[in-house]
Amino acid sequence: MERLQKVMAQAGIASRRKSEEWIREGRVRVNGEKVTELGRRVDPDFDVIEVNGSQIHAENKRYFLFYKPKGVITSMSDPKGRPVVADFFREVKERVYPVGRLDYDTEGLLLLTNDGEMAHGLTHPRHEVNKVYQARVKGIPKQRDLQRLMSGVKLSDGWTAPAKARMIKAFKGESLIELSLHEGRNRQVRRMCDAVGHPVIHLKRIRLAFLTLDGLSSGGYRELKAREVARLK
Ligand code: URA
Repeated sequence: MERLQKVMAQAGIASRRKSEEWIREGRVRVNGEKVTELGRRVDPDFDVIEVNGSQIHAENKRYFLFYKPKGVITSMSDPKGRPVVADFFREVKERVYPVGRLDYDTEGLLLLTNDGEMAHGLTHPRHEVNKVYQARVKGIPKQRDLQRLMSGVKLSDGWTAPAKARMIKAFKGESLIELSLHEGRNRQVRRMCDAVGHPVIHLKRIRLAFLTLDGLSSGGYRELKAREVARLK
């Protein structure tokens, strides 16, 4: 049994908050009977739920691994009409949304799903999964800069947790470094690299938990396999 507003949100008709509003407004019926309290629990496979007079059905859970191109906003819509992640998923009928975010200028691995519980679990600070980034940075970081990235740097929102950092190669006054983090603060890699004096020129996320971009090109996506979904849970 699940809360009515959760089942409504999972059916993809509205957010949980909006669903609560609709319940309070008396627009929701369970087995023909109007429900206006928020504590109501329902069995999504058994109870007939109607919202504004139409019956809702649980959406299939979908999980996609997307290679986000640079120059795309991690969002489902943009008031200014810029390219958004949703543009790449028009033929998917379920309302999938991004798990976490990548900056407009960052490319790489992004998960999308309509499984709110999984999304919540993957982004919760307590069990945030490992994320690996390759950053092309200005200059050539010294070992002590890499050490600072690993042991923690002070950002405006506090010290960063221990991370891994290694140099891949250096060329013409720029370097390619790899950073592996468990945290997921806003623009964290860019801010960490700024803090050690080596601003990011280009950023790519190449790995999330055990998932990589293998077999995908920029703008492409694939559905996760059942065993991959099970491993993420
Ligand atoms: N860190 C950043 O700075 N940007 C991203 O998009 C992801 C991590």
